[in-house]
Amino acid sequence: MTHLSDRISRVATSATMAMTQAARDLKAQGRDIISLSAGEPDFDTPVHIRDAAKAAMDAGQTRYTAVDGIAELKAAISAKFSRDNGLTYSASQISVAPGGKPVIFNALAVLVGAGDEVIVPAPCWVSYPEMVRLCDATPIIVPCGADTDYKLTPDALAAAITPRTKWLMLNSPSNPTGAAYTSNELEALANVLRDHPQILILCDDIYEHLVYDDFKFATMAEVAPDLFERTLTMNGVSKAYAMTGWRIGYAGGPDWLIGAMRKYIGQTTSNPCSISQWAAVAALNGPQDFLNDWRTAYARRRDMMVQRLNGMKGLSCQAPPGAFYVFVDCSAVTDNDSDLAMSLLREQGVATVPGSAFHAPGHLRFSYAASDEELREACDRLEARFGRLS
Ligand code: GLU
Repeated sequence: MTHLSDRISRVATSATMAMTQAARDLKAQGRDIISLSAGEPDFDTPVHIRDAAKAAMDAGQTRYTAVDGIAELKAAISAKFSRDNGLTYSASQISVAPGGKPVIFNALAVLVGAGDEVIVPAPCWVSYPEMVRLCDATPIIVPCGADTDYKLTPDALAAAITPRTKWLMLNSPSNPTGAAYTSNELEALANVLRDHPQILILCDDIYEHLVYDDFKFATMAEVAPDLFERTLTMNGVSKAYAMTGWRIGYAGGPDWLIGAMRKYIGQTTSNPCSISQWAAVAALNGPQDFLNDWRTAYARRRDMMVQRLNGMKGLSCQAPPGAFYVFVDCSAVTDNDSDLAMSLLREQGVATVPGSAFHAPGHLRFSYAASDEELREACDRLEARFGRLS
């Protein structure tokens, strides 16, 4: 009999992936399923990006590349950091990997091990704590409630720090809540971090371009330049450019950290797909104005979802400034959000992700990266289930 490692045995299955697969399986059986579980844009990858991939294939860009990204992509990323964030990262300070997940995992893997702690404010994306566990370290999950808009406060951060803390994970705008930190809020967290030079900060900025209502996006290395050497600024093309399947994530950070990640990549995945890298060059260097139309569509869908969901008995949610999720408090209707999510999938044909997967039981996450028609139909079905407030 083969025994699996302790490492894989101690981690949970990804609930976002599991719910999305369950929805796919039911669809394949002919069921009419509206999938609001996966966090991925419903838009198609823009034509100029697809054309760049075709041109790359035809030009023979089909071989191994530098393990952590081609020079052209690193130049495009460097230009993006400078244009959007006022940050200067040279090629040796940039790491590209097959998606945001591997970037985060590589960063953790080169820095933490048994006995180390990583602070993860919750609600948090499903994979952060499990990646920490896969590296044999301990996630310190800090609950952040609706009273602080699900955000980490300086006091809560200070209380969670120990001599073993190695990383703080920050995700803004957040998956699953859509909450986002203002530059003042980041500065207040930076003040706490300044007293603890052993802590690195991992900023997952993957939803940077998905902010609404004039919210001004900010990231730690920009707000606190003195923490630049301790910050990994992570991003990717998946969410902004509707490129989830292309698998390109990247990060800017200090040379010593990016160098260690390069060594790790060289012995594990090697380079991300060469063709996807050229597509990402086109995404980052190409026109950005279509993002305004997409943002307008997302904001409209968010407003519709928030209004309809708040009109249902026992459900309540806020209108978050970013990402494409609404995080709904359903604690008035159930004490088991996983059962509720399963039942909504089976009975109403609406796929969601339970809050407990994000370390925030009593909630459901709805992705509104779906067409207006699908969202309206989903709300009709949910209304039939929960009833309307009179
Ligand atoms: N980040 C997306 C989500 O939360 C993609 C799924 C995943 O990788 O977990 O739905």
